[in-house]
Amino acid sequence: MSPARALEELVRDARGSRSLTGGRVDDAIVLEDLAKTYPDGTEAVRGISLRVGSGESYGILGPNGAGKSTTIGMLGTLVRPTGGHARVAGFDVVADPVEVRRRIGFAMQQAGVDDFATASELMVLQGRLHGLRKHHALTRAGLLLRVMGLEPIAGRRLATLSGGTKRRVDLAASLMHLPPIVFLDEPTEGLDPRSRSAIWAMLDHLRRQLGITLVLTTHYMDEADRLCDRIGIIDRGKLVVDGTPEALKATISGVAPRRFTTTQRTLEDVYLHYTRRPLESDAGREAVDDQLRRAA
Ligand code: ADP
Repeated sequence: MSPARALEELVRDARGSRSLTGGRVDDAIVLEDLAKTYPDGTEAVRGISLRVGSGESYGILGPNGAGKSTTIGMLGTLVRPTGGHARVAGFDVVADPVEVRRRIGFAMQQAGVDDFATASELMVLQGRLHGLRKHHALTRAGLLLRVMGLEPIAGRRLATLSGGTKRRVDLAASLMHLPPIVFLDEPTEGLDPRSRSAIWAMLDHLRRQLGITLVLTTHYMDEADRLCDRIGIIDRGKLVVDGTPEALKATISGVAPRRFTTTQRTLEDVYLHYTRRPLESDAGREAVDDQLRRAA
């Protein structure tokens, strides 16, 4: 079966078995003055308010340490807010975390990967945890592995896989229950351009066909431009600006001409304008990855 055919099968399967319709709301995600101060006093998120509509894809951009992972972690019920409120699929992340978790998929840097399981075992387990029958979980895992070109490593232990392949397995596992809302923390970080664009195409297709809401953080401006209906730039724990990529580009059309070499504004220009910082280096990124590993 070709990957494209497997994707069609996946969509058909999801349509036939969607059960969480009760959580369908206009705004998939609502943040009201959401804040997080860590026990050591770090004010990682300092009051963010925004809404993401059902079926929208929303990209969170910002420099290292801006508060992106903390924000997405609170929405995924992994980090407990210390101020404000957030509702995901109509449920409060603090009052109803179990209801929220049933309706979301969460693919995170280095997260959720048990090194002793095989790729296929991890995916089936993930499906079973979300209530799929064994046969159904096996079928779905097979389709997802096919769609993502992961069939050759399906039986390999996760410990033996490269970081990039593990990341793709983790993403595939987070989609096993084809939830209405999917959070992706740097979904294509470190992947080669071909894998990245295959993942974009898959996510875009699932979103259009199933109305899945996507929220992602990324360092790649082309990824944000291609995948996101709307983008929010976060800096120092605050939402600095938010809008469609086109609207954001328009906000800087007449500004700081010396900074730009062409008349055509890009999302990178927008990012530079609002954060006053260039895109971060790999070294900086690794430092944050390390920090996340230690925190986990
Ligand atoms: P981003 O994802 O934008 O890089 P993070 O949300 O990871 O930002 O981090 C925001 C701030 O919170 C940073 O200053 C980071 O060092 C700090 N931080 C993250 N996790 C913890 C933690 N578990 N304890 C204390 N500080 C943390």
